[in-house]
Amino acid sequence: MEQIVALCKRRGFIFQSSEIYGGLNGFWDYGPLGAELKRNVRNAWYNDMVTNHDEFSVPTGAPQAFSMVGIESSLIMHPQVWKCSGHFDLFIDMMVDCRECKSRFRADHVKSSECPLKPSKHPGEFEKCKLTEPREFNLMFKTTIGAMAGEEGTAYLRPETAQGMFVNFKNVLDSTRVKVPFGIAQVGKSFRNEITPRNFTFRSREFEQMEMEFFCHPSESRAWYQYWRDRRYNWYINLGISKENLQLRDHAADELSHYSCGTADVEYAYPFLDAGEYGELEGIAHRGDFDLRSHMEGKLVKSGNELVVEKDAEGNPRHRGSGKDLTFFDDQTRERYIPHVIEPAAGADRGTLAFLCEAYHEDEQPDEKGEMQKRVMMRLHPKLAPIKVAVLPLIKKEGMPEAALKIYRELKEAGIASYYDQQAAIGRRYRRQDEIGTPICITVDGDTAKDGTVTLRDRDTLAQVRMPASKIVDEVTKVLRR
Ligand code: ATP
Repeated sequence: MEQIVALCKRRGFIFQSSEIYGGLNGFWDYGPLGAELKRNVRNAWYNDMVTNHDEFSVPTGAPQAFSMVGIESSLIMHPQVWKCSGHFDLFIDMMVDCRECKSRFRADHVKSSECPLKPSKHPGEFEKCKLTEPREFNLMFKTTIGAMAGEEGTAYLRPETAQGMFVNFKNVLDSTRVKVPFGIAQVGKSFRNEITPRNFTFRSREFEQMEMEFFCHPSESRAWYQYWRDRRYNWYINLGISKENLQLRDHAADELSHYSCGTADVEYAYPFLDAGEYGELEGIAHRGDFDLRSHMEGKLVKSGNELVVEKDAEGNPRHRGSGKDLTFFDDQTRERYIPHVIEPAAGADRGTLAFLCEAYHEDEQPDEKGEMQKRVMMRLHPKLAPIKVAVLPLIKKEGMPEAALKIYRELKEAGIASYYDQQAAIGRRYRRQDEIGTPICITVDGDTAKDGTVTLRDRDTLAQVRMPASKIVDEVTKVLRR
């Protein structure tokens, strides 16, 4: 893990936020290559979910054809949203403080944390530790709207993007031609005041989510749950995560949220975990009609097997819903109902981190003198690689830079992220590209001027093939479609 973190800083993937001021715990910046990588992760998800989705054919494993649309909702929403969703009352972690060292720990992380005064021990095990009893801590970041002081102006930075889809359910139905079943997808920032941010970007206080709410008929919700559970697992596999490092784990009954009738996590064997352990990449939850009902009627609580509106001492709803009709009317069957929801909720940062970890690879390759040298390579899927092609003139004269620049410009015009590099020996230039995961290098040499051909080098196989420079854009496009 340390090598991956070092590479991320050295090559400009990920930096500590505000590093020149000593950093800010739980916040991260993406550098020039990291921003491209994360954008590619985001685009791969959004294209799969929305842009490339064909609403007229039935995808493999799906019960029927369906529509998908995207939205972009605001980061700060009406405070009532969080009251009805349950976040205001229930989005809490238990924390303990140490009165001696003034540190704060998540109660369920104490056994995996180090005592700041005696790192060989866990908090509470060193003789000087003075831990408090566990107390509740709400993870939502508070802010104030406008100039209003006091509670009236209090608002929250969203702790998830999902609520944006629920509160816009009616707007989407009224403004588009979608019919149940359909999905609303969104990518955007979320904020959680995590007590112990850690493990690089895995647990941050500001992060990006890729969430989709799929609305379906209650009687078909099980089949849709199964469909999304499998499809989301395969998305990671198709982008290069190996089956050995990925698992789909069904939650046990006692792990389920009070409203959920089924949840599965896609988990990755991050290198900072012990062997055999996995960390959550994405959760796929069957949420029933909990969310739409809460926004209609008010905050719901479980009473026996039923969800009922929570009441205060006077018998009024504890948190009032919008009172708006969030049902769906099926004009074919003449049935009116509250759709059930399947929610695949992924993290763009945890995804990016998993792709980086999976890609990291070391081997030995001969240098120009034939001596074996350590090589670091990022085996990123071509769709995710920040730079797709590096164009390298063998030497800085005899017309090679001009020919290379021509190819570079053609690639750029075709919208392919490319990089031109004429500095240093060719072997070193290859290694610079291997280290950042560039799948293809194109070398322009003495023969290019004679017969118009160049060498195309494959990062993974190291195979080199000669082909006409005029075919490069087509060839690279083919590789990127894989
Ligand atoms: P965890 O149990 O690890 O805190 P969670 O179950 O609370 O995660 P969800 O609320 O299901 O997470 O959020 C959906 C996704 O958002 C997660 O699978 C993860 O990819 C991402 N995510 C959640 N919290 C964080 C965080 N603090 N930092 C980075 N990504 C996060």
